[in-house]
Amino acid sequence: MESSHRESAIEAYDDFTCQQVIALLVDYVDGTLQGQTARMLQEHLQDCPECVAFLRTYTATLRTTRTLRDVEMPPALQDRVLRFLRERRPELAPSCCQSHTG
Ligand SMILES: [Zn+2]
Repeated sequence: MESSHRESAIEAYDDFTCQQVIALLVDYVDGTLQGQTARMLQEHLQDCPECVAFLRTYTATLRTTRTLRDVEMPPALQDRVLRFLRERRPELAPSCCQSHTG
């Protein structure tokens, strides 16, 4: 029996899933993601309009929240923006991978 076969992390590293990309987008947008990881992320973005759409939404929202941080922002409104970001992330990742009916 070939039971010694293990799921290789290297194989998964060869092609990012949408969830991985979205998790890394924070670092990517922040400029802290570099080297091969950044290149592979960009390659995924070329193939995946869903992740590109998310990247646009994310950067736009990020700019908005940063701008709003300059101005004194009511905590309730800050909470709403953060919730918007949090709710969008898990929602977009799986739908991107599972349904290809678009
Ligand atoms: Zn994707």
